[in-house]
Amino acid sequence: MPHFRSNSFVYNTLPSRVVFGIGTLASTADEIARLKCSRAFVLSTPEQAGDAEQLRSRLGSLTVGQYTGATMHTPAEVTERALQQARELDTDVLIALGGGSTTGLAKAIALRTGLPQIVIPTTYAGSEMTPILGETASGKKTTIRDPKVLPEVVIYDVELTYSLPVSLSATSGMNAIAHAVEGLYAKDANPITSLMALEGIRALTRALPVIVDAPRNKEARFDALYGAWLCGVVLGSVGMALHHKLCHVLGGSFNLPHAETHTVMLPHAASFNAEAVSELLAPVAELLGTDGPGQGLYELAKRIGAPTALKDLGLPQDALDRAAEIAMEQPYWNPRPVLKEALRAILDDAWHGRRPKH
Ligand code: NAD
Repeated sequence: MPHFRSNSFVYNTLPSRVVFGIGTLASTADEIARLKCSRAFVLSTPEQAGDAEQLRSRLGSLTVGQYTGATMHTPAEVTERALQQARELDTDVLIALGGGSTTGLAKAIALRTGLPQIVIPTTYAGSEMTPILGETASGKKTTIRDPKVLPEVVIYDVELTYSLPVSLSATSGMNAIAHAVEGLYAKDANPITSLMALEGIRALTRALPVIVDAPRNKEARFDALYGAWLCGVVLGSVGMALHHKLCHVLGGSFNLPHAETHTVMLPHAASFNAEAVSELLAPVAELLGTDGPGQGLYELAKRIGAPTALKDLGLPQDALDRAAEIAMEQPYWNPRPVLKEALRAILDDAWHGRRPKH
């Protein structure tokens, strides 16, 4: 049974087409044709340039070029360079092959051009299912929500995740779980998003320990990507709270790595909010076999060898006061009111990597 408070709700669906399976990369040419396009521009990070090259050779004359400079936080100057190439090549569809960084670049180009996007995710970040784009310009990160950036087509191919390094699989999976945990207590949650959130958490918490021991385990990789899809839908559908706010501050102002920061902060945010919405988070604790949801998430992180302390991500202890101040400046809605002292205490626990109370 989904745990959902019996309130009135509004349910919105986002229009996107999802192709999911093993070997689905082979359907890319059909998907380009379905969009009535024929001049695809392929995007990737430098690390995945070889995969992008291979995809291009598979697509033959359906692609006109490739840009392999995608990077974290979608810097405006990178977008401008890729955009210029896409224009020069008279591109009619963007293909993003990679994680959240590559998807971010496709979204940023789509925002400026209206070009359709086919996203082929290779991590569990979930950006492909959201109309959200975070961009950096002059050292400042801003986030927008615009239907224009929601990808038209998402091709999930489980085979592409076999190569995701174990450490990134673990933290990226925890990043996905974070979307679902916050979705459970979102102000605008509804029965469908709560169902998806719990199913996403179930799939990922079962899959991640298996992946750490056997990175090419087909069933576990399938489950993890399936869970990541559901968690991504939740992120795209409802508002996020304290946890995402803190991660945004730590990533945006202190340059901490995205998925790792989510991994460390999630147990503490869940533990804090469990005092206000214990019935909504009880299924998370139940799935993880612990008394409290934060404790279960903390133990999961330890079990899969993921970081549990901000100090291990390179954050100096004297940055905590400033982080708490920035987080208080424009707080997100949260199910439990947040005072500065409480926020500072959460950050302190996360910095030391203490086991959460709930
Ligand atoms: P990433 O895209 O930066 O990827 C990390 C590294 O792993 C890169 O070098 C990449 O090339 C490599 N990689 C990815 N998949 C691989 C695979 N299968 N095999 C081998 N290497 C692989 O990391 P991420 O965590 O997916 O994305 C983080 C970014 O996404 C952040 O900028 C974050 O803000 C953004 N994000 C945005 C949203 C949104 O809705 N807008 C949601 C989640 C994340």
